[in-house]
Amino acid sequence: MSIAQALHSLNAEIMPSGAKLVAVSKTKPVSALQQAYDAGQRLFGENKAQEMAEKADQLPKDIEWHFIGHLQTNKVRLVVPVAALIHSLDSVKLLAEIDKEARKAGKVQNCLLQIYLAKEETKFGLSEEEAIALLQSDTFAAADNVRITGLMGLASNTDDMEQLRSEFRSLKVFAEKLKGQFMHPRIEIKELSCGMSGDYKIAMEEGSTLVRIGSAIFGERDYSI
Ligand SMILES: *Cc1c(COP(=O)(O)O)cnc(C)c1O
Repeated sequence: MSIAQALHSLNAEIMPSGAKLVAVSKTKPVSALQQAYDAGQRLFGENKAQEMAEKADQLPKDIEWHFIGHLQTNKVRLVVPVAALIHSLDSVKLLAEIDKEARKAGKVQNCLLQIYLAKEETKFGLSEEEAIALLQSDTFAAADNVRITGLMGLASNTDDMEQLRSEFRSLKVFAEKLKGQFMHPRIEIKELSCGMSGDYKIAMEEGSTLVRIGSAIFGERDYSI
């Protein structure tokens, strides 16, 4: 299947629900992104700071770039000028750095809190308690250039669809809890980023608004080159 055909059939599934398709183009060449762009795709996700900055330089300016990977503080200055949304805010230290760079760039940076969903593995992300503590922190109170627009969940690496469903559901439940708990001009929990090529249908059934799909559009990634 071509990139255009894959996008066409995914959009037919995803758009009726109101969710948005983030085309995850990491490791793929600019020519592949251009093909997706020519087929109408405007929302792309990348997980490496340098790679995203370089691709943004070479591609049309109306692309909306989402940063979806683990973000190190020393890479924030590359990401903030480019990213419409950072999905992976996972520490108070990172929050302070994003705020600093966003102020320099003269923007308010939209971010999602990355919540730890998987039970069995160690992955980056905040527990629910840590997410609440971050939102209550003095750092957040002072971070005038950061807005929290939702949550991102990285689910377990499993084929057990019922486990995935329950993890996605817990993200939604937590989002509702935060909505009730925080009344703040820079907290507006509306986006839920969850679901990838293998599980986006379940994620959408459980309320995902941003599905991050790579291999189902661009084919398998080759990390050997
Ligand atoms: C690579 C990646 C995806 C896309 O994965 P596919 O299985 O190729 O759809 C989604 N989210 C994150 C955070 C990723 O790093």
